[in-house]
Amino acid sequence: MTTTVALMDYADVIARFDPVLGLEVHVELSTNTKMFCGCPTVFGGEPNTQVCPTCLGLPGSLPVVNEIAVESAIRIGLALNCEIAEWCRFARKNYFYPDMPKNFQTSQYDEPIAFDGWLDVTLDDGEVVRVQVERAHMEEDTGKSLHVGGATGRIHGADYSLLDYNRAGVPLIEIVTKPITGTGERAPEVARAYVATLRDLLKALDVSDVRMDQGSLRCDANVSLMEKDAPEFGTRTETKNVNSLRSVERAVRYEMTRQAALLADGGSILQETRHFEEASGTTRGGRRKETSEDYRYFPEPDLVPIAPSRDWVERLRTTLPEMPAARRKRIQEEWSLTDLELRDLVNAGAVDLVAATVDAGASAAEARSWWVSYLSQQANNRSVELGELPITAGQVARVIALVADGSLTNKLAREVVDGVLAGEGEPDEVVDRRGLKVVSDDSALYAAVDEALAAQPDVAEKIRDGKVAAAGAIVGAVMKATKGQADAKRVRELILERCGG
Ligand code: ADP
Ligand code: MG
Ligand code: ZN
Repeated sequence: MTTTVALMDYADVIARFDPVLGLEVHVELSTNTKMFCGCPTVFGGEPNTQVCPTCLGLPGSLPVVNEIAVESAIRIGLALNCEIAEWCRFARKNYFYPDMPKNFQTSQYDEPIAFDGWLDVTLDDGEVVRVQVERAHMEEDTGKSLHVGGATGRIHGADYSLLDYNRAGVPLIEIVTKPITGTGERAPEVARAYVATLRDLLKALDVSDVRMDQGSLRCDANVSLMEKDAPEFGTRTETKNVNSLRSVERAVRYEMTRQAALLADGGSILQETRHFEEASGTTRGGRRKETSEDYRYFPEPDLVPIAPSRDWVERLRTTLPEMPAARRKRIQEEWSLTDLELRDLVNAGAVDLVAATVDAGASAAEARSWWVSYLSQQANNRSVELGELPITAGQVARVIALVADGSLTNKLAREVVDGVLAGEGEPDEVVDRRGLKVVSDDSALYAAVDEALAAQPDVAEKIRDGKVAAAGAIVGAVMKATKGQADAKRVRELILERCGG
């Protein structure tokens, strides 16, 4: 059964409504062990090999808090300009779900470890939006269900389901914004930029892999609309499953157009969770949203409260790295980049790689050009992140050095990079194996030039008669004979010299 969903034209949505956003981001911490037990957290292990009585919720087992996870939570809170609680507790959030073995999630409720912060988000055109952060709290991840036998991988239509508890108990930090208002037509862009900025910040803090594709960073996007001048917010929906930055933007935009059509038609919005469908870019209704009363939260009796001393908090503050926004500003000055150049660099995810290439001896301009253009294209072709290409900053710096000292032309340099990407070894090895050195030895070039002139006597005659433009054909022949490894400018000089030019 297909139902057509009415959507309102985006410009009309903006003319009539103001969007309100709320973003909940879950981050899986990259601690070695789980939140409340010593089980390893490595991604991709054989199902149910990283479990123990505690994370399986067996009777009589007792949790113990992972100190590193608390430390990460505090550092995240500080980086988000939050206050750090003097005293806080864990709470049980009770609900049944097969991938949650205890039938409650150990989380934090009204006593989060960090609260009342903000994060400045720079949009593509340089406008800065300050997003208020309501809280960052600690909790544990659930296991994973695998629905087998159906066409969609969803539970509906599946023959049976398998459960993997390896992920159950992995430390999570949930970061929740206050309602984000006043962004108007830029709401979808703000949502994407916020998640991107948060991701970069968490990466700089080195607390998580922040891989949206692997689920170590997950975003739920709450969206509501209010008529202009309405006294209060409208009803929100919460879209889950948004697992790329692009999807965050698309999901928000889609929800705005869907909700607007419903509201304009006199309908009302159901407070529910929705799922984002990557393929169609649409959302589909999920479960009716519980209210917090439904969860019967109560303080976790098996864990002691956490009271981070102010000393500890201040010590952790000194471990904060240079924040991405400040770093970008410094880099922009050091490398004399225009705003646009900086933006391209950031959008390509190339800042760290270029910096490492510069550290390895390359000029900033060359390093930037390689990563932002040729290597970005290669990453694109392979559908991987730039950082996942099998080439190191040191290797790129070496290729740049070979071009600088005249051993390689730009074209040959690209072939060397192709060789490195194909696993043929270090740049110098690729040069040797593929025989890619520039033919800079004039005697070899003279020979090739003489041969080409002899093969095309009529052209040679024209050049001798002063028709210098005809030299192009001979240059082409020499380049072909040297497999493109000659410097075309030098070849032209030699041809003219031979023809008495
Ligand atoms: P829940 O437990 O339902 O997920 P949370 O408080 O964890 O609730 O998160 C709700 C998110 O939605 C927060 O970011 C909050 O600021 C935001 N929010 C609250 N009300 C609205 C609204 N009417 N429209 C859009 N976002 C909202
Ligand atoms: Mg929530
Ligand atoms: Zn365990």
